[in-house]
Amino acid sequence: MGKNRKTVAVIGGGAGGLCAAIAAAEAGASAVIYEQSSRVGRKLLKTGNGRCNLSHDPVYRTDYNHPDFVGAVLERWDNAALLDFFASLGLLTVTDGEGRCYPLSDTASSVLDVLRLRCAELGVEERCGRELRSLGQRRGRWVLRFADGEEAECDRVILASGGGSTLAKEAGHRLVPFSPILCPLRTETAPIRGLSGLRARAAVTLLRSGEAIYTERGEVLFRDYGLSGIVILNLSRLARTGDVISLNLMPGWDAEQLRALLAARMDRGSELFTGIFHRRIGEALLRQAGGTELSALLSAVTDLRVKVEGCGDAANAQVTRGGAAVEEFDPLTLQSRLREGLYCIGEALDIDGKCGGYNLHWAFASGLTAGRSAAND
Ligand SMILES: Cc1cc2nc3c(=O)[nH]c(=O)nc-3n(C[C@H](O)[C@H](O)[C@H](O)COP(=O)(O)OP(=O)(O)OC[C@H]3O[C@@H](n4cnc5c(N)ncnc54)[C@H](O)[C@@H]3O)c2cc1C
Repeated sequence: MGKNRKTVAVIGGGAGGLCAAIAAAEAGASAVIYEQSSRVGRKLLKTGNGRCNLSHDPVYRTDYNHPDFVGAVLERWDNAALLDFFASLGLLTVTDGEGRCYPLSDTASSVLDVLRLRCAELGVEERCGRELRSLGQRRGRWVLRFADGEEAECDRVILASGGGSTLAKEAGHRLVPFSPILCPLRTETAPIRGLSGLRARAAVTLLRSGEAIYTERGEVLFRDYGLSGIVILNLSRLARTGDVISLNLMPGWDAEQLRALLAARMDRGSELFTGIFHRRIGEALLRQAGGTELSALLSAVTDLRVKVEGCGDAANAQVTRGGAAVEEFDPLTLQSRLREGLYCIGEALDIDGKCGGYNLHWAFASGLTAGRSAAND
């Protein structure tokens, strides 16, 4: 062990922090994880409904809110490189038909297990129950002050403290305000009354002042307060109160085909949609159309509109938008442009991605990038 071996302190033992510590230790540094809770990786265990959707094939820079900033990290750590990294830790993975990558075991704990195993092999220290309160510099080293009054010194600090963390501000960085995203949306409920609990495949369009700003196809889950499902979670990254969501419930059909289909079923009266949709959806569409006039029916089926009223379930939002302002960090190394020896990764930065493995991918990839840089720079 060289006497000039750098000490890298990683603040937060989540997805990003564990990878940062591994990369720093692999590059020869002495890495210590300080985690405020009693164990590392607690959130990781809850991801993907306990299955951990750890990456996506492919991952593009445009899948994130700051494409130019994430580009360099994603170029080095694309989906294949990240899965190779996990394979090198002994994790077998599978990718489903929609590009979502999971551990073969279908259990998030397998991901945490291999990360912790590698940390142990490399001698990474885990110090749990240590909440960092503030940080500063003394004689060229970083001084960390914890909630219990203890202090520690190190050469490099990696902020891996996740969404909603204000530690970057403590270190002099600007914080972009926080808001919950990747959450269900609260909407006006009259058009979808009685549908709670039902699912439908739809093309979903977000409209602002009448203009379409985002469209995605997928499964929508109706809730008593609004809409959920992966497509809606993705929309929640863009949606504002007052925007309108339009649902096309027969997206595979062109207008003429659909018109002919409905026209041929007019004599079924109130049973018009029986056999096409769940009974309650059929009833809601008839209610929305206000009767059996053909163009009103077509519009109800292909353009069922609800107004967005806000985030439906902030407590269970998967991601917090906001965090350390990216322009104050070098996109190649993730080192602060204001404070030498300070790095910021994962959700602690103002980076968020789509639903489907993109946020964990960023946490892992940014952690691996910053860990290596912190050990070498
Ligand atoms: C229910 C749920 C399911 C999700 N599922 C997926 C999914 O399947 N795929 C996907 O890509 N993304 C998913 N996400 C999002 C993903 O989990 C996060 O984007 C990712 O965990 C961010 O990683 P991170 O390392 O930046 O932060 P985190 O994983 O949040 O880790 C931050 C760590 O820092 C610690 N910490 C905070 N402040 C301090 C402090 N002052 N001192 C010491 N320690 C501190 C925290 O306790 C925590 O352990 C999900 C999120 C949720 C909530």
